[in-house]
Amino acid sequence: MSILVVGSVAFDSVKTPFGERERILGGAATYFSVAASFFTRVRVVAVVGDDFGPAEEAVFREREIDITDLERVPGRSFHWSGEYGYDLNVARTRVTQLNVFADFKPKLSDGARETPYLFLGNIQPTLQLEVREQVAAKLVAADTMNYWIDNTPDDLRAMLERIDVLVINDAEAREIGKEPNLVRAARRILSMGPSRLVVKRGEYGVVMFSKDSYFATPAYPIEQVFDPTGAGDSFAGGFMGYLTATNAIDEPALRRAIIYGSVMASFNVEEFGCERMRRLTYDEINARFRELRAFSNFEEAEMPPF
Ligand code: AMP
Repeated sequence: MSILVVGSVAFDSVKTPFGERERILGGAATYFSVAASFFTRVRVVAVVGDDFGPAEEAVFREREIDITDLERVPGRSFHWSGEYGYDLNVARTRVTQLNVFADFKPKLSDGARETPYLFLGNIQPTLQLEVREQVAAKLVAADTMNYWIDNTPDDLRAMLERIDVLVINDAEAREIGKEPNLVRAARRILSMGPSRLVVKRGEYGVVMFSKDSYFATPAYPIEQVFDPTGAGDSFAGGFMGYLTATNAIDEPALRRAIIYGSVMASFNVEEFGCERMRRLTYDEINARFRELRAFSNFEEAEMPPF
């Protein structure tokens, strides 16, 4: 089985309370594909400029990510610059430059069109939809962010009608659902197209809604969160990567996928960019999966007699 992802491949400039990095490799599709590549074969659809060189390409090659559909054009790659204060759950965007993404018209290879699992990573909703319409996938999930919710709300609604799972953070869920209460916001979003909503809540964990089910997990407790950039995308990579690998989309598989996603995100935030993920091992992933399961596992009980 394999998964296709479209989304930004970017150069990020990031400032956190623990340090600063200029123009490091980032982007939603990058974080997603590196995380998913631990589970399954990944193909990336994106565009980069001539600033994307061998060092950046090596990150994809090392993880055997298929970059046949990564187009290269003259110009500059997508650039995002952001800053985090002591609340690492909130990123303040300083700069968003679409650059080569502004005119990107993806034409997928035959192999890409036949991919059974599809993730529409964070990028213009029109572009997400263009890719979605070219792929006859069995499961389509998507992410977005406030930038697109504010600037292209109609395109976003059109995209939502064509997906199965929406993976967003809680502020975005409240904004799309136009409702401060998360449960009600979730109900509204589930009436817009997706049959599942996965809400990332940063250090507080993840919740998953469908019309008739609810699941929640805490986040893996990390003492040193260095750079939260890409946490959401590496969560989505673990989540979708696991579903693709097992080729199952029933409730138990979706719940395990949420845990794998949380595990991948927990590693990603330990260092800047993809640095931690590039050294990650299967033993480390498996150990955290077991620990995370134990953290919220408890026995059934009756009230003790009073
Ligand atoms: P997250 O997983 O939410 O922390 O996503 C972080 C990544 O999203 C960064 O590496 C950015 O390059 C990328 N990004 C930021 N803003 C946008 C945007 N408006 N569209 C697409 N990608 C973005």
